[in-house]
Amino acid sequence: MSFNNLGLSADLLATVAREGYTEPTPVQSAAIPFILDGRDVLAAAQTGTGKTAAFVLPILERLRNTANAGFSPARHPVRVLILTPTRELAVQIAEAVKTYGRSSALRSAVVYGGTRIDPEIKLLWRGVEILVATPGRLLDHIGQRTVNLSQVEVLVLDEADRMLDMGFIPDIRKIAGQIPSKRQTLLFSATFSDDIRSLAGEFLHDPEIVEVAARNSIADNLTQVLYPVDQSRKADLLIHLIQRDSMEQVLVFTRSKIGASRLASYLDRRGVSTSAIHGDRSQQERTRALEAFRGRFVKVLVATDVASRGLDIENLPYVVNYELPFEPQDYIHRIGRTGRAGASGTAISLVSPEEVDELRGVQRLLRKSIPCAIVEEFLPDPNREPAAATRSRGGRAQGSRTDRPWSRPGRTPATTPAYGRSQLSAAAGSR
Ligand code: AMP
Repeated sequence: MSFNNLGLSADLLATVAREGYTEPTPVQSAAIPFILDGRDVLAAAQTGTGKTAAFVLPILERLRNTANAGFSPARHPVRVLILTPTRELAVQIAEAVKTYGRSSALRSAVVYGGTRIDPEIKLLWRGVEILVATPGRLLDHIGQRTVNLSQVEVLVLDEADRMLDMGFIPDIRKIAGQIPSKRQTLLFSATFSDDIRSLAGEFLHDPEIVEVAARNSIADNLTQVLYPVDQSRKADLLIHLIQRDSMEQVLVFTRSKIGASRLASYLDRRGVSTSAIHGDRSQQERTRALEAFRGRFVKVLVATDVASRGLDIENLPYVVNYELPFEPQDYIHRIGRTGRAGASGTAISLVSPEEVDELRGVQRLLRKSIPCAIVEEFLPDPNREPAAATRSRGGRAQGSRTDRPWSRPGRTPATTPAYGRSQLSAAAGSR
């Protein structure tokens, strides 16, 4: 499939060529023609599948013929509203709108909480056709009458599953109440849960359904591996892996904000340049941390799930689960940050014996076990294994297959030091 067959004009085809996109991603091939047709669309697509361009390109196409070059704000009413759950995602989408819309006269802006509202008010006052917003801040603007949504033609609900999780649905209802009911609505979600389907029933009219990747599928070019290790030794194992494999850009996930802060300062103290993003940091700190990571001024970015949602960092080679997430679905979101758009990537999980249940949950969702690799000096203390474990003659854990969170070791990555088969098996509990 080529971009030429999707119904985009020469301007936009030149834009995608300039971006280096040679062919549309599956979600783009499937969704763009429907959106150009004016249909409502319910699309299951995770971040990393090219979903932003899948809605931004056809929206720009639809609006380009009626773009007004006049100066007056009245000539630039909000015609497209894109709602996203997090500030980072809002900024990212706004950048994509600017990039893809470079050659059009359409104005765009982004509004999100945690920053001063005055500069946003000035921007809105000048008039913008495409507005990207987080729900809470948009409601502030609605309350202050600094935005008028009565001429919105297209509403996009991006990462709708996350907006649901984060409790934004009542806000979205209020916002939708300000928008004409005769409009085009596009809903993007990583998964189609029952809740998402009922949300679609509420906001969409006779939608086309686009479901490109199989549910919970992982990109083929992504290598997953887990390392068994006690919780207290994870930071040192992480440093060991970063040095051993000469990792230059690593996104590390922790479960808690405090855990993220602690790990970031530990790594920094140990000479591994690190920044952190989580909900307790100011917007300015988060932006600075992200820029430092994107620009490769720091090697490691430690993030919590909410803060990292939707982050798009080009060619990110490594994602590390410092702790497995409580929700198996978050494992998929996390590792979706690497192996994007055809690039290869590695997702590493540091798994302590206490994380048996979480690992089982993830493996159930993946419908396969994650290959296990060993760094001998970091093997968990067998006395702290979750189920009864005895010591082998060599002093390593011997447990029954079902006792262990990790199953077969699989092949160790080439970079893993060579270990005897029996050692691997014993530690992985697969024999
Ligand atoms: P998204 O899923 O929208 O976050 O996009 C993920 C990444 O894919 C972004 O860095 C885009 O620049 C890139 N991308 C989007 N469309 C294509 C395409 N057709 N070919 C190659 N890369 C793409």
